[in-house]
Amino acid sequence: MQTLVDGFGRAFPYLRLSLTEACNYRCSYCLPDGYQADGRPKFLALDEIERLVRGFAALGMSKLRLTGGEPSLRKDLPSIIAAVSAVPGIRKVAITTNGCLLPRHIRTWREAGLTALNVSLDSLDPQRFHAITGHDRFAEVTEGVEIALGLGFDSVKLNAVLLRGLNDDELPAWCDYLRERDVAIRFIELMRTGDNRAYFERHHVRAETLEQQLLIAGWSLRPRAPDAGPAREYTHPDYRGRIGVIAPYSKDFCAGCNRLRVTARGDLRLCLFGDFGIALRPLLQSDADHDGLVARIATQLGLKAAGHGLHQGQTGITPHLASIGG
Ligand code: SAM
Repeated sequence: MQTLVDGFGRAFPYLRLSLTEACNYRCSYCLPDGYQADGRPKFLALDEIERLVRGFAALGMSKLRLTGGEPSLRKDLPSIIAAVSAVPGIRKVAITTNGCLLPRHIRTWREAGLTALNVSLDSLDPQRFHAITGHDRFAEVTEGVEIALGLGFDSVKLNAVLLRGLNDDELPAWCDYLRERDVAIRFIELMRTGDNRAYFERHHVRAETLEQQLLIAGWSLRPRAPDAGPAREYTHPDYRGRIGVIAPYSKDFCAGCNRLRVTARGDLRLCLFGDFGIALRPLLQSDADHDGLVARIATQLGLKAAGHGLHQGQTGITPHLASIGG
């Protein structure tokens, strides 16, 4: 088997695959006006997804994250989960979801083969949650998380984007929440995208500010696993849960990059904030194109840059994260 290694010696065991650009939320930092369909070609179909995942698995990819948009809006999600988890070499199938459909579907997804769950939960206060996401679905999301905690997942993680003046005072509430729950919360530093410039200037908080508070409160940094996400994870002997911090503006963030992305229409994106996509869809129409697909992915990896240009305000072709699969 080949392995995916780029020109900087980074290996890529981890693919984030967007299943749709559509989202039913209106998060103030991402899609404040809601998703607008643009009439372009449809999102990848089940057979295309299966061929894509076979191609990446042939190159050593073992961890797949399904994302979007909101992946739970795909009616065929259980079939997608079952198909990708059956691909030889795939050991972990995770999903990132806004969680509002969890109470209805999480058991089915688990039975289909889902091994890990990430749920976005930007506030522990239902009113703030409503204000940030545009939806009053706090009760469903938290109920869904409680159900998921009883289903034997490898991990259940929550994501909260850190927002100045909106949710950056909630560390004590999160610590209470984590005291008895085997769950990790990831605080994500707000990233500037093509569409959120003014919002970013108003609400961006440096992740280091939170990390200083964690160290003072006795939390300690744990070592990172090879196929782990980008979070720096902290633990504390008094709490069952863990706290992760994702700091895309920190100095060595890109040095630890281990993931590639494919958009819902089948473009390989080498970086969340890159300037171009590489069309894989023409090679997903027949099993006969498997070798060509593998070769295209391996060759294109040579173009992966050392790091993003976010510090210089370069957000590439990403208007918002729903467009690429955050
Ligand atoms: N709809 C799903 C969800 O809500 O988790 C998956 C897609 S969403 C784009 C993935 C993650 O990206 C969410 O946790 C969301 O909060 C985060 N996100 C979106 N825009 C962001 C931004 N500008 N900066 C940091 N995180 C962002």
